[in-house]
Amino acid sequence: MVPKMIDLRSDTVTQPTPEMYVAMANAPLGDDVFNDDPTVIELETLAADICGHEAGLFCPSGTMTNQVALKVLTRPGDAVLFDEECHMVFYEGGGPAVFSQVITQTVPSKNGVMAIDDLERRFMTRSLMTPGTTLLCIENTNNRAGGSVIDLEQMRRYREFADGKGIKLYLDGARVFNAATALGCDVREITSMCDAVSICLSKGLGAPVGSVLLGSKQFIEEARRVRKCFGGGMRQSGILAACGIISLNVIRHKLADDHRRATEINQGLQNIPGTTVIPEETVTNFVMVHTARPAADWLQPLRDKGVSCLAAAPNRLRLVLHHQIDDSAIPQAIAAFKTVATQLASTE
Ligand SMILES: *Cc1c(COP(=O)(O)O)cnc(C)c1O
Repeated sequence: MVPKMIDLRSDTVTQPTPEMYVAMANAPLGDDVFNDDPTVIELETLAADICGHEAGLFCPSGTMTNQVALKVLTRPGDAVLFDEECHMVFYEGGGPAVFSQVITQTVPSKNGVMAIDDLERRFMTRSLMTPGTTLLCIENTNNRAGGSVIDLEQMRRYREFADGKGIKLYLDGARVFNAATALGCDVREITSMCDAVSICLSKGLGAPVGSVLLGSKQFIEEARRVRKCFGGGMRQSGILAACGIISLNVIRHKLADDHRRATEINQGLQNIPGTTVIPEETVTNFVMVHTARPAADWLQPLRDKGVSCLAAAPNRLRLVLHHQIDDSAIPQAIAAFKTVATQLASTE
């Protein structure tokens, strides 16, 4: 018998909940390009309120919110400071060059945190020769660093740096609710520190589609124009926004369970031959499994045992928890790893 797959590839793999299907069927709809879809307006208002910003803009993806924000916050030829591991530089198809024509000044990071000294070193004042740095982009939690969290003290340092230089601070907060959950703070303490923020509804928050860009009324007005220009003006999009409202009102409060289960997996995977799992690396909903042999060797045997995950690096597997992985899946996933470790050891 093939067991039901435990899908730990990403927190993007969730299916809409029964409550979401009901909400989709009953959502009052308009035409959002005419700005009269009541469900989209409700979602945007709710997200802005939760995050302490004036206004919100519903977009089809986090890539679009990020690239729309970058376009609004910069002029061609500007220089922008990014964590060298960030999603905006790594995973968005060269968007900063394609859409905004900016110079990407990438800065080394450790656990998703850049040193202020390194930002200082990279910063450029606009002159006859040099492009001017006009924006600092940060990511919290940090995807490639394994769901690591930027704490409030470091957030304040970024804010002070930006203020000292007279530049804007943008947060790619695809998983910022995971950060707030890990820090035990109100998400506003993180989000209201930034000039503009993107949140993803389709990650751990479980919605099928969508992200919301947040900022001042004036910023969002301009972003609405850019979203249209990028082809992101949607019509009866309240049918999708209806799910996002449930994400924010219901699923947001379940993230702590995902973090607890990630920690349980991390603990359960200690001392498995051929792997190293570092306890401190799990702070939110990610577990990193460092493998002695190529991570790719593990994928099919694990799938055969009912566990799906990703090779995030040549010698690293990534497991990501979400609200549709329940408590009973945790010992099953751990058992699958133990079985596969034994299998692989016998074929060395
Ligand atoms: C997933 C993600 C995004 C957006 O991705 P989409 O797939 O375009 O929605 C942006 N930033 C980070 C850090 C992410 O993890």
